[in-house]
Parts: sequence; structure tokens; C-alpha cells
Amino acid sequence: MMTEKPTCIGVLAIQGDSDAHAAAFAGLGIATKPVKTASELAQVTSLVLPGGESTAMLRLLRRDGLDIALRDFVHTRPVLATCAGCILLAREVCNPHQESFAALDISIERNAYGRQNDSAILPVETTLPGGPMEAVFIRAPRILKTGAKVETLATRDGYPVLVREGKILAATFHPELSDDRRVHEAFLEMLRES
Ligand code: GLN
Repeated sequence: MMTEKPTCIGVLAIQGDSDAHAAAFAGLGIATKPVKTASELAQVTSLVLPGGESTAMLRLLRRDGLDIALRDFVHTRPVLATCAGCILLAREVCNPHQESFAALDISIERNAYGRQNDSAILPVETTLPGGPMEAVFIRAPRILKTGAKVETLATRDGYPVLVREGKILAATFHPELSDDRRVHEAFLEMLRES
């Protein structure tokens, strides 16, 4: 008989705000493991790709050879991706064009809000129960297009800011930096479903 590994959430911790995600899950009573290497990635069953700087993340991932294992992981396992993490998963990245794992059927524009408006805390409309959600945007990207299988769960000015496709939940904002835990709870619910 096959024995499935117990569920274990990893948080990619090579660059960006991984600690805030770990703290958010800890606040919900869930322990996470930092992931810095391919062997650490092999120990977890789901993963958080935090915000940060996607270009720097890609460079570090390639340097450590973690990009190959990660590409496979994000196409098969549950992933919560925020901001730069969402950029890494996109099918297409522009402003400028950048390589990505193409696990989430979206086109995304980096740093889409210009210098003056690049960081903001705004209420966004969401279909998650509980009404509008406070969203922290930091040098945020904008999702320009979504594929047919992508569900939009929150919007800013009509553009998707929280989306789900299969095992992937992705936000262009930083849910780990506000007190509202609905995005992390939605991810835990996805883990229970899968
Ligand atoms: N501007 C960053 C990028 O292009 C993303 C910003 C963030 O993760 N807060 O990768």
C-alpha cells in the first residue's frame, strides 16, 4: 500500500519576504518549512513563492540548480504565489519580457503602476466570503490576461489581483502583510481538497 507523505508547506526562502508568510501560517496554527535547496523542496508537499524581486529570484534559482526541480514542482503540486512569486508562475511576462515557469495561464506586466503609485494599501473586491479585502501592493505587477481555466477571486480597477487555476492560488499583492488571513485560509482549504 502506498503511504502518502504528511502535508507539509514549504516557503521558498532564497529572496523576498518568506518570513512574513511563515508567520501568517503560524498565526493559523500551521508550521511551515523554509526551502532553499532541491533536497529541502523534496521534503515538502506544497509551496509558497513569496514576493520580492523576481529577476533576482530567477538568478539565484538558476545558480543553485533549484529552477529545474521547482519547474516540475509548480506544475504538479499546490502552490501559493504572491507578487514576484506570481510573476515566476505566469505563462507570459512583460515589461520587460522575462523567463517564467508557465504554470499559471496569465499574462502579467511587471511594475505596472508607475513610480508614484507603485505601492498602495487598497480595499479590493473579492468573491471570498467576508466582503472587500485590504490588499498591500508593493511595486506590483498587473495581470493583463487570464486563460479560460483561471478563476478571478479579487480585482483592482477591474484587473484580476487574486486568481486560482487548479492547484495554484496567486495574488499580485501581499496577503501576508495585512491582518486579513482569507488568502492563506483559502490555500489551506485547497490543500484539504487535494
Ligand atoms: N516588482 C517585483 C518584480 O518585478 C515584484 C514586487 C513584489 O514582489 N512586491 O519582481
